[in-house]
Amino acid sequence: MLTCREVIAGLADLASRDLPEGEVQASKRHLSACASCAAYRRSYRATVDLAREAYRVPEDAGGADLPEALIVGILSAFRARLSDLSPRGWHLVHLLTGIAAGPLLAFCLR
Ligand SMILES: [Zn+2]
Repeated sequence: MLTCREVIAGLADLASRDLPEGEVQASKRHLSACASCAAYRRSYRATVDLAREAYRVPEDAGGADLPEALIVGILSAFRARLSDLSPRGWHLVHLLTGIAAGPLLAFCLR
């Protein structure tokens, strides 16, 4: 079974379908059994969606949606800075992400 840290570290690859099938299945098994990682993944997806919406350029201005690969790259760079966190630090990141995502979603969905 993958650790929480391994699953979180692989979320960008999972989202961009860059993981081998065996790791995809292992990640999905972990996510279905671990409420903390499942919550983190939901906030991760919400962050990607919100970033895409925030940086969307209207089509009549000649723009296009920010490519998911770019969003995932930005999030991966951020994640890399967190890669030295202790397990206790990861729990804090999960907690803070959940706290931050709630009001952000409420604001965006009003
Ligand atoms: Zn987990």
